[in-house]
Amino acid sequence: MNTLSIRTLNMELTRRDLIKNSLFFGGSLFFFPLSLNASEKKDSQWIPAYKKLEAEGKLAERVKQAYALFENCQLCPRKCGVNRQKGERGFCRALVKPVLFSYHPHFGEEMSLVGSKGSGTIFFSHCNLRCVFCQNWPIAHEGRGREIQDEDLANRMLHLQKIGCHNINLVTPTHVMPNILNASRIALKKGLDIPLVYNTSGYERMEILKVLDGIVDIYLPDMKYMDTDKAAKYSAGASDYPEVTQKAIVEMHRQVGVLKLDHQGVAMRGLMIRHLVMPNRVAGTEKFVKWVAETLPKSTYVNIMAQYHVEYKAYDYPEIARGITTREFLEAMNWAEKYGLTNLDPQSVAVRDFYFHRRTD
Ligand code: SF4
Repeated sequence: MNTLSIRTLNMELTRRDLIKNSLFFGGSLFFFPLSLNASEKKDSQWIPAYKKLEAEGKLAERVKQAYALFENCQLCPRKCGVNRQKGERGFCRALVKPVLFSYHPHFGEEMSLVGSKGSGTIFFSHCNLRCVFCQNWPIAHEGRGREIQDEDLANRMLHLQKIGCHNINLVTPTHVMPNILNASRIALKKGLDIPLVYNTSGYERMEILKVLDGIVDIYLPDMKYMDTDKAAKYSAGASDYPEVTQKAIVEMHRQVGVLKLDHQGVAMRGLMIRHLVMPNRVAGTEKFVKWVAETLPKSTYVNIMAQYHVEYKAYDYPEIARGITTREFLEAMNWAEKYGLTNLDPQSVAVRDFYFHRRTD
């Protein structure tokens, strides 16, 4: 659920360098690789998953099933068991109505999500993981935003579609999954017809993913750590994160498969995994790429991200109180190559190639 912007590698880059390099790399903030006409945005035979499920008469039941989970909330592996319908709050602090921080076309996501008109990003407040290095901490930790009804959420989805966004990119969706399902069904009846992107920390229960089966077209999970002690230390005691997230990613792949793009390079369906390289090998990058290579097709889309920067409480943890170095990023990309991953994010590859030729550390 990180947002992308190629922040920098903490290696003598000035802001001007960053902008220049983003332009050079085809950074999606400034450069649109695709010339899409909104009316041509999808291959004609493509139908969103949730639309098929509705046609089969199954979507309403899923919404009902999801809403029932609010009464004894086990929407995520924290399994708080609180009754959110009655105003009880669990670890994530969320109640039953979603709190929305913002919604807009986002041009800083992966290029296949951004296309020419942007990824229709909806930022939900609150979070069930609450990492100490969270870059969205005012939203995720402090819950800033405005409470809305599911109908309002549906209208925002439709607005994003209307202005040409290629998908609905749901950032931090786990704790508001029932609202998302309900809103998607409402929006579907009013013409929603673009993929849902489930942009998650990856900390998802199998039982909940089964509810999403046949609704989500694009899963965009993080894989933050491979070691239990790191997960516990930096993500509020979530020592089961590596195990839970690995299982979740395998299930996501079972549901949607390897990423498929339309004829103009826009993502339509599939799994896109994000992995943020952290200083001092905290994220367990070698283990991660080895796990992907041995567990999933080598053509699985993987974005090895260089954007880690010190945020929120990360200053209190010496191991992660700095950005990554060029060497750390190149090492991560080399591991991906060594273990044979063939579908790495093109921007990460461009960054690798650039720094490979101008290493300074
Ligand atoms: S979604 Fe929130 S309340 Fe529900 S189990 Fe997870 S942390 Fe607890």
